[in-house]
Amino acid sequence: RPILLTGVSGFIAKRIAYDLLQKGYHVRGSLRSMDRADEVRAAVQDPGDGRLTFVELDLTRDAGWDAAVTSCQAILHTASPFPLASPKNEEDLIRPAVDGTRRALKAARMAGVNRVVLTSSMVAILYAERPAGYAATAADWTDVTHKSASAYIKSKTLAEQAAWDFVKRNPEVQLTTVNPGLVCGTPMDNRFGTSLELIQRVMSGKDPMLPDIPIPVVDIEDVSALHIMALERPDTIGQRIMATDDVLRMPAIGALLAATYPKRKIATKPAPRFLLKALAMFDTSLKTAMPQVGLPMQIDTRATTEGLSYRFVPSDTAIQ
Ligand code: NDP
Repeated sequence: RPILLTGVSGFIAKRIAYDLLQKGYHVRGSLRSMDRADEVRAAVQDPGDGRLTFVELDLTRDAGWDAAVTSCQAILHTASPFPLASPKNEEDLIRPAVDGTRRALKAARMAGVNRVVLTSSMVAILYAERPAGYAATAADWTDVTHKSASAYIKSKTLAEQAAWDFVKRNPEVQLTTVNPGLVCGTPMDNRFGTSLELIQRVMSGKDPMLPDIPIPVVDIEDVSALHIMALERPDTIGQRIMATDDVLRMPAIGALLAATYPKRKIATKPAPRFLLKALAMFDTSLKTAMPQVGLPMQIDTRATTEGLSYRFVPSDTAIQ
């Protein structure tokens, strides 16, 4: 029976689809439009034996969900909007994320598909007032009223909360969330998702200095492996799996890239706040990230590294 993998056209989902197919699974990938099917087939190296099929789904519409879930053994729900800059109206981001998650879970329950793995994010964990030196764990939640909570951060936090609320009311549906940091590493094709756009921007040398923003990083290989681990291991049911083992600050990411690509002019110094404030007037993604400048961030991922005995790709390898 197939796995329904929503948002199969995405950077992360293409890698998950590839890994699932390599492991012998049947994958039913959802697209907003069938026009992208050939692109996805090529990216995930469809073995052409009928194990990869597609369905059309939109997070904002009911159409197609029940049929998409029928006869599946599980759902991996990765689809969610992920722009670098906040839209004018936050609800444009929050609604598809939250409503799409509810649609996925409701369809699962209706079809008797009891296993759901949701791609949440570290951003649903990290942003809240915390004591100095506090290391965040999977028990922590972002406070959506915190000054750092952008529309995207709110969208992921509220979508994940909606998922846990749903399974509390419908305990027959078994949920695991995977909460990745910024996902780096090699994409399956030359379509870069938002996270790689950020790395690409640092690589481009466009910025003479970098904002001092903390970023938990993870390799795409680990993100895919942890989704499949969640699917396969019943001991992960009810868990939020932190998919990251290291927080790097933007200037340190610049320094790692500069060491690997010495011919490029890659910034390694933190930019002063007054300069960032001025630049943010013309740069919407910087404006979105401004409240995170100078933010302290520590994480405790022993639940993943020790609890699940998982070994991450080192963060410097992930970045390069
Ligand atoms: P992409 O933008 O590459 O993928 C997002 C996917 O969601 C695409 O398939 C996109 O479809 C789909 N999608 C967006 N809006 C809708 C909609 N209204 N209806 C149906 N599908 C929709 O990003 P990633 O692969 O990086 O992200 C995948 C998931 O991982 C998201 O849930 C994201 O929040 C999460 N995540 C990503 C991190 C990262 O650093 N990359 C870190 C932590 C979490 P289409 O191709 O048609 O636009």
